[in-house]
Amino acid sequence: MSTRKTAIVTGSTSGIGLAIAEAFARQGMNVVINSFSDTPADHALAEKLSREQKAEVVYVQADMSKAAECRALVAKAEKEFGSVDILVNNAGIQHVAPVEEFPIDKWDAIIAINLTSAFHTIAAAIPLMKKSGGGRIINVASAHGLVASPYKSAYVSAKHGIMGLTKTVALEVARESITCNAICPGYVLTPLVEAQIPDQMKAHDMDRDTVVREVMLDRQPTKEFVTVEQVAATAVFLASPAAAQINGTNISVDGGWTAQ
Ligand code: NAD
Repeated sequence: MSTRKTAIVTGSTSGIGLAIAEAFARQGMNVVINSFSDTPADHALAEKLSREQKAEVVYVQADMSKAAECRALVAKAEKEFGSVDILVNNAGIQHVAPVEEFPIDKWDAIIAINLTSAFHTIAAAIPLMKKSGGGRIINVASAHGLVASPYKSAYVSAKHGIMGLTKTVALEVARESITCNAICPGYVLTPLVEAQIPDQMKAHDMDRDTVVREVMLDRQPTKEFVTVEQVAATAVFLASPAAAQINGTNISVDGGWTAQ
């Protein structure tokens, strides 16, 4: 059993989740990283983070589209490290289509992974946080938790939903030294987003810089991507003592997108 703080980051084998896990490990926390797969590469990633950050990092497989696995992830983290102090609900997927053509299975998967999983992990983590005298819940929402874009009905619905969940949970646990907040990133340059650039260049017959500026960052006033490190630093802040009175709100990291 460890006396260090323990953080769970769902969906953390790539992109924003991986950067948050890395930042927490750098702070000396025990970190549980997660995805739905169970490959040697997943466990090797945890070992690499442990080595590089001189922290305890373990990989726990759990499919965030399944209620029982969401709850088991939290239980396994407690079993491994003795407490769950920080829960970051980050796992998320996307699908883009007009609402009347939106595939039902994609709608169900997006609501399950981007919204319902957070209900399950939060429900499982709160009793453990109460037992250890406090905790931090951080939901990685999106600018799409605050404003909409066409063709993203499921994603926008899930992200608006998680904003409601964030506020409700914050009120329920406010007297327990637990806070619940959301981070709302704009466009972040993750491997997922990077992979879309060549197709966009072809589709619009534009060079990379023009695609990024005029197509991808159309609504992001700085015309720059948010970096995963900037989102991770916001999570580290929300988990710090300085953020103890920040509760039931969101921090936008969106280059001014939602100021419009
Ligand atoms: P990503 O695809 O790089 O990472 C997503 C992670 O979730 C991966 O580790 C993946 O394996 C995992 N995952 C997917 N399905 C899962 C499942 N069923 N169970 C467990 N894990 C699963 O994506 P990202 O861009 O880093 O996005 C992370 C979060 O940030 C998401 O919630 C996303 O909506 C949000 N976000 C991203 C951006 C952006 O521009 N990239 C902007 C705003 C918000």
